[in-house]
Order: sequence, then structure tokens, then C-alpha cells
Amino acid sequence: MSVEKKDIDWGNLSFAYQSTDYSYVCDWKDGEWGEGHLTTDHELHLSECAGIFHYCQEVFEGLKAYTTENGDIVCFRPDMNAERMYNSAQRLEMPPFPKDKFVEAVKQVVAANAAWVPPFGSGATLYVRPFMIGSGEVIGVAPAPEYHFHILVTPVGPYFKGGLKPIKLCISKYDRAAPHGTGNIKAGLNYAMSLKPTMEAHRAGYAENLYLDSESRTYVEETGGANVLFVTEDGTLVVPQSHTDSILPSITRRSLVQVAEDLGMTVDQRPVTWAEVESGKFVECGLCGTAAVISPVGEIHDGEEVVSFPAGHDEMGPVMKKLRETLTGIQDGALEDKHDWVFKIEA
Ligand SMILES: *Cc1c(COP(=O)(O)O)cnc(C)c1O
Repeated sequence: MSVEKKDIDWGNLSFAYQSTDYSYVCDWKDGEWGEGHLTTDHELHLSECAGIFHYCQEVFEGLKAYTTENGDIVCFRPDMNAERMYNSAQRLEMPPFPKDKFVEAVKQVVAANAAWVPPFGSGATLYVRPFMIGSGEVIGVAPAPEYHFHILVTPVGPYFKGGLKPIKLCISKYDRAAPHGTGNIKAGLNYAMSLKPTMEAHRAGYAENLYLDSESRTYVEETGGANVLFVTEDGTLVVPQSHTDSILPSITRRSLVQVAEDLGMTVDQRPVTWAEVESGKFVECGLCGTAAVISPVGEIHDGEEVVSFPAGHDEMGPVMKKLRETLTGIQDGALEDKHDWVFKIEA
């Protein structure tokens, strides 16, 4: 089935919200999830005492639906988002949304909004944002008695409008995640407290903060919304890990690790100290996440000190470029999808 697309200037979309035809909603009440259905209502009506407003019981996900070279509407590894949201919900004492039901809901809401899925080659995608909140009333600190699961979709433009220019990061004086805290789940609370550090970094001329582990301030963790990758002189991909479970398990990062292994690269997944980065042993650096796949990093500043990545300073370095092209090639259907990552919604 092929639908008539909306009259949108696909090439000039920004990363902003606009409502589409349908959202998906499902409620948890009396100990179980309801059927779930599509809705044309894009607003929520909640009690002033809903748990979300007081104790911030909220988790979310982000993935994209897009059109491949041969015209299929697909998304990338939605089962991984289902799984991560399940884990996030458990950490906040929320009833996890069943994983198969999550994937089915993504499929339904994207198919219903097929007219909003940008055409191949536009660089734009349909951003899919599942989220879940405590909707039942609580006044004392406790898990809410009812929950609302919701998926909104909105068309967004390409992350990089003017090409892949390497960005500048700064080491944050703030902490992102406590050891064994909530840094490894996708919850709004991790973003609320990141806004001030992010705005301060922007005001100082940096694209993002790079956070060190808050226990020892020795190890590199990640930025506010993306995992970090390094490449050594001999072409090894070095992927920082956390002793204290404080890095978010990026689906893009895990996919890139697999891609690197498939390409025959050596991948070293381990804790990485800031001292190693300072020593100049890495020649490329990048941030990874759904929106940009990989954003190249040219420099990291720590006060007066500047660490520069020579092979990726003026433009994206060769290893990051190869990884990015391979993963986007798999996503677009130009390269073989040997791990069955691309999930077809509609032909
Ligand atoms: C969402 C997110 C990422 C990237 O995850 P992807 O699954 O690759 O999109 C990385 N770090 C944080 C803190 C995030 O919230």
C-alpha cells in the first residue's frame, strides 16, 4: 500500500515537534495493561496529583522510522528500544510495557502515519518517541497506582544540515550520573538535571559536555545524550565502559561495535581514563546515538587544556566515516543486513 505523502518541504525540516495524524496510547490500571489503541487526540488530561508531576516517574525511548532506497517504511532494531524501556521502567518501579506489545505499537503508529514518513533521500526521518508516565494519583512518595504509555511521532530533518563538521566538547564540572544510580536508564530525570550544564557549555561555545565518572572523576563516561567512541593510531575502536553502571546502553553504540567487528576491526570495550585521552593516544573521537549515528569530535577542552584528535580534527576521520557509512548503508538497504536489524513496517 502506498499512501499520498503530506505536503511538507522534507528537505527543510528541523528537529522540532509537529503533531501528525495519530498517536498510540495504552493505560495500566488494576494491575494490567489495557488493549492500547491509536488516537487523533494529541493532548493528555491528567489529575493534578498524577505521580509524574510530583516524583517524576517517567521513562522514554527514541527511534526513527524512515524510507529505504527501495521504498519500504522501516525502523531500526525496535526490539532493542522495547527491551531498554522495559529495564528503565523496572528501575523506577513502573509496570514494564510488554516488549512484543511495544514493537507492535510502534508498527501500528508508524503505519497509520505513513503519509508523514519522509521519502528516501530527503535526509529526514519520522522520529518515534515512546514514553510512559505515572498517571495515577499519589501524594506521599510512592509508585503511582496507574500508568500511561504513549507513542508520539513527528517528522524531523537531518541532524547535520551543513555536513559533518567536527564538534568541540568540554569536560563538565558537573556530574551526570551517580554510581549505580540511574545513568543506565532512559528517564526524563537524567535530562532535567543536565539542562543547566548543557546551557552553560553552549554559552561557553561548546557543543556538549563530556562527563567523567562521578565516583573518582578518573574515567570518561559519555555526554548528556550520546555515548563516546575513540580510535587509536593502529585503528582499534575503543569503547568506554563504566565500573559503576552509569553509561546509557546506546543501541547505536552496540550496533557500531558489531559493525566494526564485521569489518574485521579490533574493538576494545573497557573503562577509559581521562588521562589516556589527555596523553594523545587517540586519533579520532565521535559521539553516537540514534539522531546522528556518529558525530565527529575534533577537540575536548578541560579548562585551559585542549585535547585534539588529529585524524578527525578538520573533518570526520576515516574510521568514524567508515563505521558511519556502513551502519547508514545497512539502515538504508544499500548494504546487506546480516543481523536482521532493519524492521519492515510497510512495503
Ligand atoms: C538515548 C541516549 C543515548 C543514545 O542511545 P541510542 O540508543 O543510540 O539512541 C546515549 N546516551 C544517553 C544519555 C541517552 O539518553
